[in-house]
Amino acid sequence: MAEGSENVNMKEGVTGALMRDLERGNFTRETLTQALRCRDAEQAEMFALARRRRSEHFPGEEVEVRSVIEVSNICQQGCKYCNMGLKSKQEKYTIGYEGLLRLANFIYQKGRRVLLLQSGENNAADFVSHLAQCVHELKRQQPDLAVILCCGNLSKAQYRQLHEAGASRYVLKFETSNAALYGNLKPRDTLRRRLDCMETLLELGYAVGSGNMVGLPGQTHEDMVADLHLLGKYNLAMQSTTVFIPGESSAFRNEPMGDVDAALNMMALMRIMYPGRLIPTTSSLEKGRADGQYWGLMAGANTVTVHDGTPDEVKHLFPIYSTKRFTPQDGHFRQIVERAHLKFAPGVLK
Ligand code: SF4
Repeated sequence: MAEGSENVNMKEGVTGALMRDLERGNFTRETLTQALRCRDAEQAEMFALARRRRSEHFPGEEVEVRSVIEVSNICQQGCKYCNMGLKSKQEKYTIGYEGLLRLANFIYQKGRRVLLLQSGENNAADFVSHLAQCVHELKRQQPDLAVILCCGNLSKAQYRQLHEAGASRYVLKFETSNAALYGNLKPRDTLRRRLDCMETLLELGYAVGSGNMVGLPGQTHEDMVADLHLLGKYNLAMQSTTVFIPGESSAFRNEPMGDVDAALNMMALMRIMYPGRLIPTTSSLEKGRADGQYWGLMAGANTVTVHDGTPDEVKHLFPIYSTKRFTPQDGHFRQIVERAHLKFAPGVLK
């Protein structure tokens, strides 16, 4: 046996054992830690398994397309990784009733049927009522438009108000399952409160999405494995991971960006462990690496978010993770979805 071939065989043996564990649903801490670290041939094999799981659960091979409207940058939180938030000196805006309806109708006429309304966390009664009025009117005009909200922690009564207005889905990421790390990242919040909000959303009948961030300062592989296990405790419809990006004016501005490969591995594991959920390929992947969003699709994602809803004049006022944001448009997604041999859900991208 030539020198080195034994090592190759040993490596193949390790790879084979990892894939067998993942295929059989043996999601122990050791298996998941190894999987988060895998690269090259081993990573390619894991992505292939994630795509097989996606095909089994989404046999149409379709990608859901969402448009996002960033409704307001007013925020009561102060997350250390974010350029917005309570202490930000930035000019504040909230898109008004008429403006929001006009934007949503423009998107609808383009063929979009899923709209994501995102804002800073703001539980002021007038803001939540404004959102509810907009959603109510949108749903009256376009009953087949699905409205997803991503507006942070609110009270049960406010979540109910928005649900009754017609919002059917809500994205509330827990970012990390490590309570101490969470408290450090989000000093004005606690993990317990976040999870309570998530439970309330599920109780009220929302289709809920959650997930984590990869590469947070102080985060370990063990934390990420715990994130994967936490996702399994909830009956979620959507799950996601984003790469940590140090916001230029945030408290973490001097920290290194998260690792794109670790985030892609996290996505593949989410698909393998909880295969029936929607997973977005987020713009943070593209920010971290050219073609990152294509690789997100190759790792099992099946949702894209087009940044065509927020008016150009306020886009720069929503620098959530970076002032130099990548805000992908139709052409970019058409190209990567085709290369990944997927297709758009009918009539959603024109
Ligand atoms: S990440 Fe969201 S909740 Fe946190 S400060 Fe930024 S806008 Fe507010």
